[in-house]
Amino acid sequence: MKWIDLPQNSVPYLAFDIMEKNVGVVAAFTTKRYYRDGKPDDFYQPLLRPESDPEEVASCVQLLVSQFGTDREHLVSSAQKHMANIHLVDAGDLGPIEGRTQLEAIDGLVTDIPGVMLRTFGADCPSVYLYDPVRKAIGLCHSGRKGTQLHIAAKLLKTMQKSFGTDPGDVLAAVSPGICGDCYEVGDEVAEDFAADYRKDPLTGSLRCQSILSDILSKKTGRYHIDLFAAIFHTLRDAGIPETNIELPCMCTKCRCDLLYSFRAEGRISNENCAILMLRS
Ligand SMILES: [Zn+2]
Repeated sequence: MKWIDLPQNSVPYLAFDIMEKNVGVVAAFTTKRYYRDGKPDDFYQPLLRPESDPEEVASCVQLLVSQFGTDREHLVSSAQKHMANIHLVDAGDLGPIEGRTQLEAIDGLVTDIPGVMLRTFGADCPSVYLYDPVRKAIGLCHSGRKGTQLHIAAKLLKTMQKSFGTDPGDVLAAVSPGICGDCYEVGDEVAEDFAADYRKDPLTGSLRCQSILSDILSKKTGRYHIDLFAAIFHTLRDAGIPETNIELPCMCTKCRCDLLYSFRAEGRISNENCAILMLRS
């Protein structure tokens, strides 16, 4: 993963080495930083929240889409509900922004249409990027605690297999920054709920042995910690993506709340980091 801050960019971003090698795709993760009239500002607002100024948000979004050579009519965003619903984006999801909202109750998006920018949000929840350079298809999902325990990344891949004939062996995968295993402390009930779902095989639903959780769920100083990055890695690998095709983040949203929005670090957060994925036209 590396930080891309070029003079021509209004929105610097984090990029993934595994995706950067491929000219066919744009994969980026925005932070709090952007340039407003050429001056650095640390309050980039890509998500419309009840308290935000719609014009400011629209301007932040416009900077992002134009930077990557597309427009707001080709931006498709998920209104996430911490579930594992995947939506196949088609021409019906595109069009004038007026009257079109984010896709409700959707946490994952797939498409094979070049120039369509998929977008998910998170302020501790990682996003998962999948790119199939052979079938020229992409998938992006929000994989917070609930989505991760429901193996949303495997469901995203499955949708690409069904929709585009994707072979998991071809897929390149990246996981965005999110909260790290050291910082993500949870109560016993949450840990038990996570374990019960995560142990279910995403394909068959059968219960796998407890040891599958060995580097995912741990008890430190009397409290459980969940390592979402490890959990997502195992889900992707078990779904057939080669380990060497999976890039994990080297940054935690809570540890780096100077640069990234973090719910755990900041409490009531003012905005969120956004993950974008787009096939180049
Ligand atoms: Zn951390």
